This record gives sequence, C-alpha cells and structure tokens, in this order.
Amino acid sequence: MEVREPDGATVAMGEPVAAGAACVAEPPRIRRLDESVVNRIAAGEVIQRPVSAVKELVENSLDAGSTSISVVVKDGGLKLIQVSDNGHGIRSEDLPILCERHTTSKLSAYEDLQSIKSMGFRGEALASMTYVGHVTVTTITEGQLHGYRVSYRDGVMEHEPKPCAAVRGTQIMVENLFYNMIARRKTLQNANDDYAKIVDLISRFAIHNSNVSFSCRKHGVNRADVHTVTTLSKLDAIKTIYGISVARDLMEITVSDDNPSRSIFEMNGFISNANYTAKKTTMVLFINDRLVECTSLKRAVEVVYSSTLPKASRPFIYMSINLPSEHVDVNIHPTKREVSLLNQESLIETIQNAVESKLMTCNTTRTFQTQTVSCAPASNFTARKDTEISPSISGTKSQKVPVNQMVRTDSRDPFGRLHAYWQDCPASQHEKKSDLASVRIAVRQRRNPRESADLTSIHELLNEIDQNIHPGLLEIVKNCTYIGLAEEVFALLQHNTHLYLVNVVNVSKELMYQQVIRRFAHFNAIQLSEPAPLPELLILALKDEDLESGGDNDDELRKKIAEMNTELLKQKGEMLEEYFCININQEGNLMRLPVILEQHTPDMDHIPEFLLSLANDVDWENEKECFQAISAVLGNFYAMHPPVLPNPAGDGIEFYKKINGKAASIDDADDHGQDDLDQELLAEAETAWAQREWNIQHVLFPSMRLFLKPPKSMATDGTFVQVASLEKLYKIFERC
Ligand code: ADP
Ligand code: MG
Repeated sequence: MEVREPDGATVAMGEPVAAGAACVAEPPRIRRLDESVVNRIAAGEVIQRPVSAVKELVENSLDAGSTSISVVVKDGGLKLIQVSDNGHGIRSEDLPILCERHTTSKLSAYEDLQSIKSMGFRGEALASMTYVGHVTVTTITEGQLHGYRVSYRDGVMEHEPKPCAAVRGTQIMVENLFYNMIARRKTLQNANDDYAKIVDLISRFAIHNSNVSFSCRKHGVNRADVHTVTTLSKLDAIKTIYGISVARDLMEITVSDDNPSRSIFEMNGFISNANYTAKKTTMVLFINDRLVECTSLKRAVEVVYSSTLPKASRPFIYMSINLPSEHVDVNIHPTKREVSLLNQESLIETIQNAVESKLMTCNTTRTFQTQTVSCAPASNFTARKDTEISPSISGTKSQKVPVNQMVRTDSRDPFGRLHAYWQDCPASQHEKKSDLASVRIAVRQRRNPRESADLTSIHELLNEIDQNIHPGLLEIVKNCTYIGLAEEVFALLQHNTHLYLVNVVNVSKELMYQQVIRRFAHFNAIQLSEPAPLPELLILALKDEDLESGGDNDDELRKKIAEMNTELLKQKGEMLEEYFCININQEGNLMRLPVILEQHTPDMDHIPEFLLSLANDVDWENEKECFQAISAVLGNFYAMHPPVLPNPAGDGIEFYKKINGKAASIDDADDHGQDDLDQELLAEAETAWAQREWNIQHVLFPSMRLFLKPPKSMATDGTFVQVASLEKLYKIFERC
C-alpha cells in the first residue's frame, strides 16, 4: 500500500530498505527524522479518519464535565469538524501549550494511569490535529468576562489569543483535515461514509451519556441527525436515537461477578429480544465509561443469539461494564479504541451465560404470553397481532395485584402505551418522517452572557412559579404515563389508577413560559432561513384580527399601525436580543428566535400574531411586568397549538376538497374520487398533524415531567380533568 506522503522522500516508510538489495554494498545510513515528520506520522496514527478526531474532541468535552455537546460536520469532516461544549473551558494561560504534544491536564505520573477516570491522558489528540489540519479554539472559563480565540498549526499558536465573546465552554474547530496528506485524503473521498460514521459515534456516546445532550448535524443544515435531550434513562436515549421500534424490543440485563479468582465486574445494559431483526449486529460497548470495541465479546454474544434465537441472530446490544480500574489497561492502542482486561475469558463467559438465560426466558415468555390485542375499530391503524405483553404486567408477579389496581408501573414503559399496539401501519411511517422533521434544531449561536439572570425581577418571577405550584398536579406530572392524544387539544394521561385528560395547549404554554424565565438571557438561537419583514407580517396579523372582529378594511391605517409597531420593536431590539434572543435587525426584519425547548421550533405560521402581541401586549415601563409579558407572548407562540391546516383525519377533510381550493373547477365538482382532494395540501397537513403528535409525545411530555411546575389554576381551569378512576369503574362493573 502507498504510504508516501506528498512531500515524498523524507517520510520514514518511503525509504525502501530492501530496494535493489542485490547491488547495495553498504547498508543505508540511519538518519534522525525531522521532528515535524515524526509528529505528522504520529498524528496520522491518532487521527486516522475524521471520525477519530470527532471522538477525541467529544471525549475532551466529556472530560471537561459538559452537559451539552454539539457537533457540526462539513464534507464528512474533511472541510470542517466543529465541537462545541459547555464544559469548564481552558485557562487562557494554558493556551500557548494547549496543542503541544504530551501536554495534558489529566495525568502527571505514570502510576496515575492505573486509576485514570478521564478519557484522555496522552495529551496527543489536539497536537495531532494541528499537524494534519487547522485548529481554532474558542474558550471561556467561569467568571471571565470574555473568552479567547486562537488558531494553531503544527503544535504552536499562529498568533496571540484574541479576546472574543463566548458562552460557557469550549468550541474547537478543525478545518481542512489531512490537507498535507494527499494519499490519506484520497482514500477518504466518500464524505457520506465518514459522516455516517460520525453520526454512529455520537449516537453511541449519547446512549451511554444520557445525562448529556448531544446533537450532530451537517454544516448548513438546520436539522440534526442526532439530537438528544438529557434524560436519566438509557432506554429513553436509545428510543430517541434508534427509534421506538428498536427500544420496544429491548430487555434490560444486569450481571455481576465478585470472585477474585474468576472476575470482578458489573455489567448492565439492554439486549434485543426475539422480535428484533436487523441485517447486522449493533454492539455499543462501554468499559469503565470508555467507548471500546471487543470483538471476542461481540462474537460470544452473537453465538448465543444464533443458537437460542436463530431468527433474531443479529442483535442490538448496549452494555456498560465496570471493573476495578487497575484491571483495565487503557494504554494499548493509540486511539484507545481497544483496552485489555484482566481475566477477559472469564468475564466474557459470565456475560455469555447471562445473555443466554435472559434469551431463554424471553423465548418461553413469548410463547406463553403471546395474545391478540385488538384496537378500537375507530382508529385508523391496523391492530398489531401477537403483541408481546410486558412480563411485569401479565407475568406471575402481577397476578398478586388485585386486578382493579393493575396499572402501568413504569412511566417510561412503552408497553403501557397505545403506541405499543400499533405497528406496520401508516402511523409508523408518519412517525419516521416526523421523527426526522421534528428534530430540526436550532443553529447554536455563541453569545455573550451578561449578569442579567441576576435581575431581581427574574428572581421574583421564578419565586412566583415555585410558590404557585399545585403539589397534587406536580405529582401527576412527574409520574404519569402518556397514553395518547384523545383529540386536537387533549391528551390522555394515566397516573396510578386514574385517567386524566390534559389540555396540551395550556400545558405547553405554561411550560414554555416557565422555561423562558429559567433560561432568561441564556438562550441558544434559531436562525430564520430568511429574514422575516416585520411590517408585512404585522399587516397580515392586523388583517386576521380585522377579519375576526369584522373590523373595517382600512389598508392605510393598518400600514400605519404596522410601521409604528415595527419602530417600537426595533427600539426595544437591544433588550429583546440580549434577554430573549429575539433578534430584529435595523431593516426591521426578524432574524433570530430563542430555543426554548431543545428539539422544538415554534410553528412559523404564528409569527404574525406573535409579533403583534409583542408590540401590543407588553408594558415596557415596568421591568418585571415587561419580562413577564414577553415571556408569556413567547410561551403562547411556542405552545403546541393545533396546526393551522384543519385535521384531515376528521371533518377537516372537507377543507381539502378541490372545490374549496384554487385548483377547483366546475367539472371536478361532480367527481368524488381521490383527485377531488388537493393532495399536496393534504400531505402537508398530514405531516403537520403527525409531527405535532410526535412532538407532544416525545418532546412535550418528557420535558413536562422534567421541568413543569403546574400552577394551582390548572386544577380548576380545565387543564387537568380526571375522567376515570379504575376503582370506581370496577365498582360500577361489579354492580352490573
Ligand atoms: P488529553 O485529553 O489526553 O489530555 P488532548 O490533546 O485531547 O489531551 O487535550 C489536551 C488538554 O486540553 C486536555 O488535557 C484539557 O486540559 C484541554 N482540553 C481539550 N479540550 C478541552 C475541552 N473541550 N474543554 C476543556 N479543556 C479541554
Ligand atoms: Mg483528549
């Protein structure tokens, strides 16, 4: 294989030792390699592909204690890799040596390797990147007023660090990777291939580090290909990344051994059951929190699957193994991809046995517990046959629970949800589509945080939220199970033996409001793809208002009001930008909006009314009332209102008959076939509705559990309505 570097002869491996051996009289001279060559060769080992650079950068971010890491990639990583985190940052005085080889903050003596907890320790990664690419670091440490930005080449700074605006943490940008290694660049031409590897890598990190939110997207694309919110449940993380169809077929597994003569370890994770089929095995393995590969363990597990569940012999496996750090040698591979374990055979055997017995029980469970569940005929979905019921519900244990008190025990258990009974139906296609669409996320904008969150008015508003909590509702919110959407604005929730109807619009409005107050002045930004001109949007909103109120149709007046309001909002622009990340430029265009809830973008159809209420409903004089009103206006805008297009699933279908649309013609009117409908609009509406439903289940409810502090008013204003109690229902049935 060609290993010559572009600049040719100086590369060690380019020197042919045996070339023309027969006629060489003297042995070739041994020369000391130029240091830059040594460094580049070493760098090529650490950074083998773009994905290795991403791995090193993400590990650094995790080592820095980050809770949010986002990755942006251009051309499969060859043009750009950018990793931003909110970790502890890098001291400005360390910047001069940051990218020298063997400079690290994580290890000082060799013995430390025995107990090393951080992922890095060699101090080689950043240095290597500067030998094969252009590295720029932007970072800020806590308590600093501004950050620093500096670029590196070949291990050294290209210039003094420049002060710059930065938000908490570090952003590292690697551009033009392998610019000086033409052969390597050539072998890496397939950008899609490398991007897929990066997405796969981030997905793996995101499962194991479910307490960290990850996002990964291509440069210039708003939609992230991986996007997770922080959650304590690994299964939830798997569900977000690999989809419910994978998560549904997983079983939890734990095993440990504490016998020094065999092995000492603990393992926990998830493995797929008999229903899971895939073309290849997915094995996500972490040993002492390091993402590693272990071919022998993978083989051992595959063997068990093919002998126990031949039809499901390509499993999905996530395992996290912990063992005493002195039993692991992390220093056997330059990229730390492999580790060597003490008593590896015995450990693998114990895990193999555990997997085997788990699969045996799942096999028998399946035969005994398979039953037909039929859906309500009213639904559009076809019922899933042979649905496996969670053993915790119908297994032996549950028989001890009086039947009238049987409830879903795990609020995150998918078997408890309506969705668990639906499969291979249009809904699942929607889910996939909307899954992608709804994880469209914001462009992260690094901004300069001010001391603004210390404003007393914000403290007061936060206190008011806390003092106004309804404890009963809080308990329901924290521990409920989402069942499904009952109709356009109501979702069904179960809590213990009670069933509740919950007004999704009210709940989301309140949640967004509270989040605005909590994130005050610390928002990431959603960059609008096109500037949104305020005057035109305000005129639209005014027209809508006039239509509703039957007001007069005075275009001139509307234009005047719109102009005044635009001026007003432009005047308040600095404050709106600084505290709420609502950016209005000098030309009167709305450019940016805040991210209030990760994964959620507001319905842009509501921008006109949002701008109008911002101009009309805010009292700009009193600070506290002003902040409260702006937060409420934002809350209303971001709330999960029903889409503007009527729901095609019900009576709304009338709306899509062409006679009402622009394409209507007299001839069409008699024709009642499919062509009668405006298919394009219909598809748009279906996507919007499916996406909203997905958002409610996967974004609203998980965030509600985490963040919502339900105010007392929600107990009486129809936001939460108890519709049934299992005990009472049973009493009624007993009487019948
Ligand atoms: P290592 O991780 O082996 O120490 P690296 O070359 O990856 O070596 O990083 C060098 C040093 O730079 C780290 O020890 C750490 O102190 C600092 N560093 C790198 N990335 C980050 C980051 N994202 N946040 C904070 N510090 C970082
Ligand atoms: Mg490192």
